[in-house]
Amino acid sequence: MTHPILPLNDGRAIPQVGFGLWQVPADETARVVREGLAAGYRLIDGAAIYGNEVGLGEGLRSADVSRDSVFVTTKVWNDRQGRDETARAVEDSLQRIGLDRVDLMLIHWPCPEQGLFLDTWKSLIALREAGKVRSIGVSNFRISDLERIIGETGVVPALNQIELHPRLQQTELRAFHAKHGIVTQSWTPLGQGRSFGAAPVQAAAARTGRRPAQVILRWHVQLGCSVIPRSTRAAGLVENLDIFNFTLTEAEMAAIATLEAGERTGPDPAKFN
Ligand code: NAD
Repeated sequence: MTHPILPLNDGRAIPQVGFGLWQVPADETARVVREGLAAGYRLIDGAAIYGNEVGLGEGLRSADVSRDSVFVTTKVWNDRQGRDETARAVEDSLQRIGLDRVDLMLIHWPCPEQGLFLDTWKSLIALREAGKVRSIGVSNFRISDLERIIGETGVVPALNQIELHPRLQQTELRAFHAKHGIVTQSWTPLGQGRSFGAAPVQAAAARTGRRPAQVILRWHVQLGCSVIPRSTRAAGLVENLDIFNFTLTEAEMAAIATLEAGERTGPDPAKFN
């Protein structure tokens, strides 16, 4: 089955749904990657800090799909920011994964106190020109961070990967992304299950005969976001991709919108350094 893709502002495209590898144990990662690809995913969300890039590469090589059909994302960790260090960090990730280039390289966090994200962004621009990465983007960037790198370089990130779930809907940031042609990608899309029991989610699940997690992932898709849920179980991976044969009504989307609580599960990007 072919799943939806979203256009990127650099002329490429990204599968709308993928799977994430945060907290996936290194010795299980190759299996999870193989099972994810067998389930039909074509987007893998990795990061140097997850400590499992080697397993990502192993899984990719041992799966029954061609390298070029899979979109691989990884990220530059906070202690590798800066012009030269970022180039070395990208090289290290490529070596661990065992690829000549990745599809998308993100700056993992802006770390405003370090004051290095602009240099890091310039380094990613150069690495894209050198063919080490196909697309470049950011993660956890606020509007002010985005304005800074766009204003200084004229290069708009292809994507911003941010915490987004029914209790943190990021309306303002999503509107900024839409205006600038930046794909919004939701991390912790299931919000640690905190909305599984909420009335609007339960009602939509009952009407559609779906599970709460599927309703929430479908909500992300209908918002136009890319989404990267994590499951280490083959059945969970299958369930989280099975969200393309039902639709939430406008009333159901509006009811889920009322769950906004300004509640983060992870760090505040303004304070995380
Ligand atoms: P998630 O929202 O995908 O939730 C994962 C949890 O939900 C796990 O405990 C899993 O067992 C459970 N789960 C998965 N599918 C389920 C289902 N169908 N029903 C019930 N429970 C289910 O959370 P996450 O891993 O925090 O986020 C997803 C990915 O986002 C990560 O793996 C990572 O790749 C990325 N991420 C990025 C950042 C960042 O700073 N850029 C931060 C956190 C996560």
